Amino acid sequence: MNVILLGPPGAGKGTQAKRLETKFGIVQLSTGDMLRAAVAAGSALGQRVRKIMDAGELVPDDVMVSLIAERVDQPDCANGFILDGFPRTVRQAEALEDMLRDKGLAIDYVIELRVDEEILVDRIKTRAQESGGARTDDNEETVRKRLAVYREQTAPILPFYAAKGALKAVDGMAAIDAVSAEIHALVEG
Ligand code: AMP
Repeated sequence: MNVILLGPPGAGKGTQAKRLETKFGIVQLSTGDMLRAAVAAGSALGQRVRKIMDAGELVPDDVMVSLIAERVDQPDCANGFILDGFPRTVRQAEALEDMLRDKGLAIDYVIELRVDEEILVDRIKTRAQESGGARTDDNEETVRKRLAVYREQTAPILPFYAAKGALKAVDGMAAIDAVSAEIHALVEG
């Protein structure tokens, strides 16, 4: 089973992806985590993306598509995967479709976590405090930039998937357990 979780920064994609991972034995592929690991390792990729991430902007589509293309070939993805933070542009969504088709794979569920933007800044502030500042992009200025980037570049993928009849939405404002229950019912139903 292959799932895409969509929604703005702070919507709870990472939390819900981890729960899907545990419940269904499929693997969370967080592009943000992959990029942060590259930055921490000081790899060529990390050096290329660090400033982009700190500015709250998007890493170029071709970089992201090849990252995911390589990752889904790893043996731990054989049971399925949850895409968390990818695709983030219509071009990424189109490239994902072509790439999966070439591999004989497909996406089974596209789930949008719907949240009220006003609460996201607060949620991310809380995350910043709880993580002890682990994410250098969790400051108010960058968060507002990331939300604007989401509206402008990522939200257009919602109609892209809706037009295919693939999109399901859940109420991301509900309690974490309630959101999980709704998602699990969708993918089990
Ligand atoms: P996230 O942890 O998903 O919020 O991602 C953190 C940052 O990594 C984003 O603000 C972008 O700079 C970058 N990033 C993560 N995923 C992507 C993607 N699919 N396309 C472009 N940039 C991305």
